Amino acid sequence: MLIAPHPDDEALACSVILQQAVRAGAAIRVVYVTDGDDNPWPQRAVERRWSLSASDRKRWGKLRRSEALAALGVLDIHPADVQFLALPDQGLTDLLLRDCNRALTRLIQVIDDWSPTDILAPSLSDIHPDHNAVAVMMRLIFADFLAPRVSQWNYLVHGRSPAFFDRAAELSPSEVETATKRDSIRRHQTQIKLSRRRFLRYATRPERFLRVERESAIWCDGAVHSVSRTRDNLNVDLRFTADPFRMQRSKLFIFGRDSLGRIRACLIRLLGCSADLEMLDCATNQRIGIARYRGHPFAGQFTLPLHLFSPIHDLFIKVDRRPWFFDEAGWIEIPSLPSLEVTPPMISAEAYSLAVRSCTGMAGYGTQEKVASVTRRSSGHNCFGGKFS
Ligand SMILES: [Zn+2]
Repeated sequence: MLIAPHPDDEALACSVILQQAVRAGAAIRVVYVTDGDDNPWPQRAVERRWSLSASDRKRWGKLRRSEALAALGVLDIHPADVQFLALPDQGLTDLLLRDCNRALTRLIQVIDDWSPTDILAPSLSDIHPDHNAVAVMMRLIFADFLAPRVSQWNYLVHGRSPAFFDRAAELSPSEVETATKRDSIRRHQTQIKLSRRRFLRYATRPERFLRVERESAIWCDGAVHSVSRTRDNLNVDLRFTADPFRMQRSKLFIFGRDSLGRIRACLIRLLGCSADLEMLDCATNQRIGIARYRGHPFAGQFTLPLHLFSPIHDLFIKVDRRPWFFDEAGWIEIPSLPSLEVTPPMISAEAYSLAVRSCTGMAGYGTQEKVASVTRRSSGHNCFGGKFS
């Protein structure tokens, strides 16, 4: 199963592995998280109009869907094996931070409906904000819902993060596979219009995949130089490479679960000088704590209280200093504290089902039975803060 944030990601990052999977006789499912409909510059260039309405965007999304099906057709993948979730293009980070329960429910549903053995999903280190937001959602699903027999592999479309490239395995294509990949990329004509050379260059580099595993190491990236986590605090050492002025607009996001297993996300606006800074809840905009920054515009140390976050769940942080479109770096995963892991209470299937519903807020979506049947990872933590046996 391939989880692609937008139409074209499948061709750019996974069309060689998809060709090999087709040849091996594997059943394949491709799930597009968005339709790629918020894509104004190519749409303006192709349609020769400046102002774009909601219906223009909808039409563009349809066109991009048809291009995705054509690109997959080149790889011998049929429309019946493709699913579009139509979540908001360019809006997945917002969704993640404010209310990702509905999106998580949809993803869990499609995974459970199809029961894949292997899932390809974007990397946390991808610098496209939609891609790294999907990556965080997939990490939550990996930790809490996937059976151990399901492997998750990350791919990266945008950026050159060593956190990904230094560890990922390369899949070198044959000449025929490269030619087919190029053909598949060309089917995304709306994207080729403005970025032909950049897009076709993807056909000349090997595809790379990194297996997702439970890790104790923290892979720092971008401005985050080092991180240490205790039960009470998170200490983040930040070093900015350039553009101290951008510091004025920079934010630090923290994402995790509270002691009841509910998703919590907060943000801190960075000032570029030593100060006590408000931590704001991303969903409510309420002040939920005070973080301390000691440093200057180029480097400093953050200390954040973690009273809202459960120590037995992973945390994710991202420094957001986007000048335009791409992030400087993606999300960084900070593992739970192993010394605090507790012996699991045995819980019934019914209690688990209730916990899932309360955690993902899915009671209103009519999917209780389906989601309750999702096999959970034996090493995952449940929503009550215990650990499954
Ligand atoms: Zn994409």
